[in-house]
Amino acid sequence: MRKRFGQHFLRDPEVVARIIESIAPTPADNLLEIGPGRGALTRPLLARARRLAVIEIDRDLACDLRTWDVPGAHLRVYCEDALHFDFARAGAGVRVVGNLPYNVSTPLLLRLTRFHARVRDAHFMLQREVVARLAAQPGDAAYSRLSVFGACCFDVCPLFEVRPEAFAPKPQVVSSFVRLSPKPAPSPALLERLDSLVKLAFSRRRKTVANALAPLFDRQALERFGIDPGQRPQTLRVDQFMKMLNNSGDQLREVRHAKQTL
Ligand code: SAM
Repeated sequence: MRKRFGQHFLRDPEVVARIIESIAPTPADNLLEIGPGRGALTRPLLARARRLAVIEIDRDLACDLRTWDVPGAHLRVYCEDALHFDFARAGAGVRVVGNLPYNVSTPLLLRLTRFHARVRDAHFMLQREVVARLAAQPGDAAYSRLSVFGACCFDVCPLFEVRPEAFAPKPQVVSSFVRLSPKPAPSPALLERLDSLVKLAFSRRRKTVANALAPLFDRQALERFGIDPGQRPQTLRVDQFMKMLNNSGDQLREVRHAKQTL
């Protein structure tokens, strides 16, 4: 077991069955599993879909997976880091599945937003707190960068929680299984600009919006966008972020450059 790869393998057949039932894979699906590990989900996915691609960073586990010979089924193994994987290689309408390594789940989710137009849906096992952040609403304590991206790109549907005993070794956290269904979202270029704006806003959470976003907008501009300059950044909705973005012109790029050269 390699701790650095966040390896907590599913060992509870009831949880596995519930996951597979939620995904309901069929032979018509273009399925991609991230982090197949020893195959707890890979086997039943392959049995139902007959065709599956997997991305596994651990060379030993990937080698094992390459020896699998399942008659009438095709397993494609990418021994790569999913954080750098070009999801365009998986084709269109891809159904992404994964009991994700918790240490990389947030960057992975953010990366997936860049490819979300190619994704039909995604089912992930995540730390309960990460699902709470994904599903958080403006004003909630858990509302964060991930919540804005979650709301912008996906309908987030938490399905059920999974206790630590379902894994070996046991993680120290409770997990949650979630379905993400893409919705029409901004282009990758716009998402990149949104990211800069959200980072700037949330880096100064305790300030008012007027103070946090002073490098970009004065109070009058914020009021024109229907934003109360005295509200906290943590209460800003996605549509308000988008309105600011559509009116920020080149200022946002300048702020980004200024921050990078600090
Ligand atoms: N799916 C298996 C299961 O449910 O038993 C294993 C889940 S385990 C939590 C996470 C898996 O992701 C491990 O096999 C680990 O080696 C792999 N992994 C970790 N980081 C990865 C990365 N950056 N890219 C691809 N796979 C990764």
